[in-house]
Amino acid sequence: MQAWVIGNWKQNPATSHDVNALLDDLCAAISTTKQMSHDNSARCQIMVAPSFIHLAAVNGRLKDTSILCAAQDISGHSASVGAYTGECSAQQIVDAGATWTILGHSERRQYHQESNDSLLQKMIHALSQDLGVVFCIGESQAQYDTKQTLEVIDNQLAVIKEFITQQPELIEALPTRLIIAYEPVWAIGTGKVPTVAEVSATHKHIKRTLAGFADSLSNMTVLYGGSVNADNANSFAADPMIDGALVGGASLKADSFLTIATAFSQASI
Ligand code: PEP
Repeated sequence: MQAWVIGNWKQNPATSHDVNALLDDLCAAISTTKQMSHDNSARCQIMVAPSFIHLAAVNGRLKDTSILCAAQDISGHSASVGAYTGECSAQQIVDAGATWTILGHSERRQYHQESNDSLLQKMIHALSQDLGVVFCIGESQAQYDTKQTLEVIDNQLAVIKEFITQQPELIEALPTRLIIAYEPVWAIGTGKVPTVAEVSATHKHIKRTLAGFADSLSNMTVLYGGSVNADNANSFAADPMIDGALVGGASLKADSFLTIATAFSQASI
């Protein structure tokens, strides 16, 4: 299975100048990293998710490379146009050159009160425009402490089940246009990580749950996210249930990001 390593830049870098510097570093490091040569980049798909404001420029810089570009969110109001001040639609994201969007990141759930209903709308809009979806799920520290992880995840995955019910004609797209990112909220940006065995067991549960929704979802890509860095990437990459990583902080430095991608690329040989 092809691995995926996705950099979520969040509200970074601060300026276009700094975005260009990061891309310069990334492109230079890719061309000099033997492990990320053409064959190996086919084993690990790299993608970056800049802010909306930088999306078109980043895509312009990356269009002749193997690196893909994603948005961090899309409007739930309309897939196209409308009187929705401050929003950016799936169609506009595609027009800017992105082929994927992250949805349901815990920071969006926390600061923008994203619910299953709003995420379902976003998912419908994304896939109706052929925008792939990286769907983030994961439990809080309190839910982890009280052993509610699988229950929380089941509730979040209900969005996928409802999507299938409401959009049966789009189900064919899901195996190649949907990726799940399991991100325990307590591990994001904290330096704390679950054990590989815990992540592996949770991924197994996610894969089994998706397979239960539809036969065609029996081999879905499930990434781990939460304080993945150059030092711990190998241990996650070595587990066959972990198909890649969604990376925040460590994606803002080309070296650490590519070290993570190389770990997953080599693990999938
Ligand atoms: C994230 O924001 O998706 C993330 C995983 O962040 P970090 O790698 O910094 O924990």
